[in-house]
Amino acid sequence: MEQQIESYTTSKKENAIVSFNLRIKNCEKCRLSTSRTHVLMGEGNLDARFMLIALSPGEKEDAENRMFIGPSGNMLDKLLKASGMDRKSIYMTNLIKCMLPKNRRPKMDEIESCSPFLDEEIAIIHSEWIVPLGYYATRYVLTKYHTDPPPARTDFINIYGKPIIANNQKIVPLPHPASLLYNPSFESETMKKYKKLQIFSDDCKWFPLCPMKWYYEAGHLERKWIELYCRGDWESCVRYEMEEQGHDHPDWMLPDGSLDVGLKKM
Ligand code: SF4
Repeated sequence: MEQQIESYTTSKKENAIVSFNLRIKNCEKCRLSTSRTHVLMGEGNLDARFMLIALSPGEKEDAENRMFIGPSGNMLDKLLKASGMDRKSIYMTNLIKCMLPKNRRPKMDEIESCSPFLDEEIAIIHSEWIVPLGYYATRYVLTKYHTDPPPARTDFINIYGKPIIANNQKIVPLPHPASLLYNPSFESETMKKYKKLQIFSDDCKWFPLCPMKWYYEAGHLERKWIELYCRGDWESCVRYEMEEQGHDHPDWMLPDGSLDVGLKKM
């Protein structure tokens, strides 16, 4: 599979996604095929840096065969706009490709039947960041990449907006936009988490000069530090903060502020 992923150029991605969509369009692998109108395909920029994964189409999406329309789509647009982005800069899809009747929770066997399609789609799009939205998509994606999800559903809120690198894949779980329709008081907090996408869109401005770059390129530093901070959440880097404030700090201080004496000897 890895070799196949490496070889997906943009035109190959287009062909792969067209044939993938054709193949799943009449799927009858689970009971949801009897109540849906459409198997909803993913939409967006095939070369996007961010692949957003929601749970499943709602009634309106199912009827009109479009991703994220209606109130939750409007909310997504608002959150993306706050991050300086729009739909053209992302790819979006669902964990379950058919509508869940009356918005009920998915059953385990439905996730098991449908998730191999998502796995294929992830391999085709091969985005730098996977962005699962809400509980079910986050739980699925973390498990897929061999990372334990939080033990309780209520704990998921603590990982939204926090970047993770698992099995070489960068992941940032976010709240589902529809959650704001039920809890509008969380809007400013949710917006802050979506704004992380803007941070992740550019490398840290200090990266070309940073000792972390040198240590990494010389093979003395694990890749996760670069991917999670310098090419990820540089806003949360202690080195970045100190550079901005003009404070001295040792070259061997890691982005989380801890000191690595092993680097001091290099
Ligand atoms: S270690 Fe921090 S300051 Fe240095 S490039 Fe990475 S994010 Fe920027």
